[in-house]
Amino acid sequence: MKLGKYSIGVGDRFTHQGKAQLRAVMKANEKGLHISPVWNKSNREHIYVGTEPADTRKEADEAVKALGFKGLYFVDADHINLNTVAKYVAVSDFFTLDVASFIGKESSKGEVDSFVSSCEKYLGQLQIPGMKEPLYVNKDLLLEIAGKFLAATQHASEIYAYLLKEKGEGNFITEVSMDEVESPQTPVELLFILKMLADKGVPVQTIAPKFTGRFNKGVDYVGDLDQFAKEFEEDVLVIDFAVKEFGLPEELKLSVHSGSDKFSIYPIMAEVIRKHDKGLHLKTAGTTWLEEVIGLAVAGGEGLELAKKIYENSYNRQEELCAPYADVIDIDGSKLPSVEEVNGWSGEKFANTLRHIPGHPDYNANFRQLIHVAYKVAAEMGSSYTSLLEKYADVIGSCVEENIYDRHLRRLFSI
Ligand SMILES: [Zn+2]
Repeated sequence: MKLGKYSIGVGDRFTHQGKAQLRAVMKANEKGLHISPVWNKSNREHIYVGTEPADTRKEADEAVKALGFKGLYFVDADHINLNTVAKYVAVSDFFTLDVASFIGKESSKGEVDSFVSSCEKYLGQLQIPGMKEPLYVNKDLLLEIAGKFLAATQHASEIYAYLLKEKGEGNFITEVSMDEVESPQTPVELLFILKMLADKGVPVQTIAPKFTGRFNKGVDYVGDLDQFAKEFEEDVLVIDFAVKEFGLPEELKLSVHSGSDKFSIYPIMAEVIRKHDKGLHLKTAGTTWLEEVIGLAVAGGEGLELAKKIYENSYNRQEELCAPYADVIDIDGSKLPSVEEVNGWSGEKFANTLRHIPGHPDYNANFRQLIHVAYKVAAEMGSSYTSLLEKYADVIGSCVEENIYDRHLRRLFSI
């Protein structure tokens, strides 16, 4: 099973927007692209929202059938590990093996030694084709890399072995993710992580490293764009080398877990993948939930009332809602509007404050990040939330479609 060159992860927390998301992908594909949609949902999201993996499968299948989509599509068990994978086996065909929490865990001396000695031919200057400067590899570096990543890649191989037994070879896509950590993995680290995965027999098809810079939830990239561009291109070249050198699947590509909208790096990624004729998987999740809230506000009436109620709850429960996301949000509480102020807003003002149009005078990144992490509030509202998603399905669906197509796919694929 292969993913195809371009794919986009369209997470959907409340599983109501599958058709709108697919319309956006199909609109892009009408321009000559072949983008595969992937409905990703993490174990954490399922728990918060109270959905089951089968709900995501149903949503994807229904959307594909209703719109007559003929391309490849997948359902991603996002950020799973050996403890959580079992309930996804029957309905998912894409598995994101999250091994971040195993980074830095100790491995036996025998394992470390055999890894280091297997890398002897790479010692010294290692020229990766296309890279301006060679990588420098010495024994200390290999020991350091082994100390960080051997246990993590071992865990990936254990999850893979489980899936192989349950689903059979070639019946699923394998992604390995290490993005939910503080320090980025460098291109040379990525190279040896890929060697470890190859050594352990994991036919990884997408890999999600932690890139340099901050990937805060729901808002744009914060960091040095030149540094990102250099690192991203080096990662692409390292992957190309690793595929040939270690015999990994030829379709192996980077997976960028965007934490929603990293608009300023989209054109950089677009240019690099075009220059080297490579594929890309981009994962989004919360951006669709935010469009639901925007759609409710735009719809007015009960919709706007509910959007305001969501903000009120989020504002009053900031500490609790932000705690699990502390590393991936930067909210300046003094720039959040008061509940009284928001309650006086029109739907248009609410939507403009929340919608991700950097430079719009009403846009407020603090407001947006807070709502991004507050989907638990809507989940607790149960059917009073989902019934309004149904009542205002047309308005909300247009917001979701426009967001994925205009703000994501057009920027990413230079449409
Ligand atoms: Zn991730």
